[in-house]
Amino acid sequence: MTDCVFCKIINNAIPSTKVYEDDQILAFRDIAPAAPTHILVIPKRHIASMAEITPADSALIGHIFAKIADIARDEGIADGFRIASNCGKSAGQTVFHLHFHIIGGRDLSLTIG
Ligand code: 5GP
Ligand code: ZN
Repeated sequence: MTDCVFCKIINNAIPSTKVYEDDQILAFRDIAPAAPTHILVIPKRHIASMAEITPADSALIGHIFAKIADIARDEGIADGFRIASNCGKSAGQTVFHLHFHIIGGRDLSLTIG
């Protein structure tokens, strides 16, 4: 998608600090980190949000979550991290390309929303 900021990051039209990449997914550091570790994991195929996931995406979503576990281990936060995915404007989604926030490196126990 030409006007999607995350598609531009995938295509290297916008620079990012990459953490992991393969043919299906990309993980990179959030430009405005909400915690010492704040990484976004995205599929390379443009999917607008969680609301558009279908059973055909099962392997892709499974792959994303397996890599999330690897990244959390590599970042040293496997004992305490949170995955968030805002779906829709009213949930705070600002970039309409599916992404999972990995947040960790600080006490997250008092925040839920
Ligand atoms: P959302 O609000 O849609 O759940 O999350 C979008 C996230 O993307 C935000 O945390 C925001 O800081 C991050 N973000 C937006 N534009 C860029 C960018 O150009 N580069 C990087 N690395 N992160 C971005
Ligand atoms: Zn996109």
